Amino acid sequence: MSPQDYAHNLAQVNQRIQQACLAAGRPATSVSLLAVSKTQPESAVAAFLALGQTAFGENYLQDALPKITAHPDAQWHFIGPIQSNKTKPIAEHFDWVESVDRLKIAQRLSDQRPSDKPALNILLQINISEEASKSGFLPNELMAVAQEIAQLPGLVIRGLMAIPAATDDPVAQRQPFAHMRRLFEQLQQTLPNQPIDTLSMGMSGDLEAAILEGSTQVRIGTDLFGARRI
Ligand SMILES: *Cc1c(COP(=O)(O)O)cnc(C)c1O
Repeated sequence: MSPQDYAHNLAQVNQRIQQACLAAGRPATSVSLLAVSKTQPESAVAAFLALGQTAFGENYLQDALPKITAHPDAQWHFIGPIQSNKTKPIAEHFDWVESVDRLKIAQRLSDQRPSDKPALNILLQINISEEASKSGFLPNELMAVAQEIAQLPGLVIRGLMAIPAATDDPVAQRQPFAHMRRLFEQLQQTLPNQPIDTLSMGMSGDLEAAILEGSTQVRIGTDLFGARRI
């Protein structure tokens, strides 16, 4: 992919976001774009930064670290599965962690967040389609665990993230996203002292449905960078 391809892809994705906001009767500024740069080279991150894209999502720690070192001023979001022996470098190097899926992981991230950095922004990942193969809290355990996580001094809860079961049907896509929005509103009521403003849902294949149901952040890989490298 050339820088021109990236510019074209970014313009297309931003246009889809704007169109979906228009259809939903929402301001175009109400949805942010997370560029999912997992498996992509540092040069691709540099190209998107030059185009004005500032927030990047990564799933694999070792793949991410050289890109973060090269571009420390970008905003880095960890969005992949978290092994407990990897929490320290994640707490040290990322600005956000969107894939917090266990209380123990939250406790470790809080303990290991360097004291000279602001509290780590986190999203709680929800297994919204209740799939055995997916990680995340189940909807019915969310509120109790969120109240415990809200006590951790190194973290600030910003909202929720989910990856629903994949389907191509735009009507069926909306159902889990609508459920996420209800949980998001309930979380805001349960934790009035946390700045809960981020509902991260929608990927290349379903961003329109997610925005119709209230997403505030879409996470896009394939439609920005092309097919993944690994
Ligand atoms: C890979 C990934 C994405 C991006 O998916 P695309 O379909 O390539 O846009 C979004 N969120 C998470 C958690 C991912 O792992």
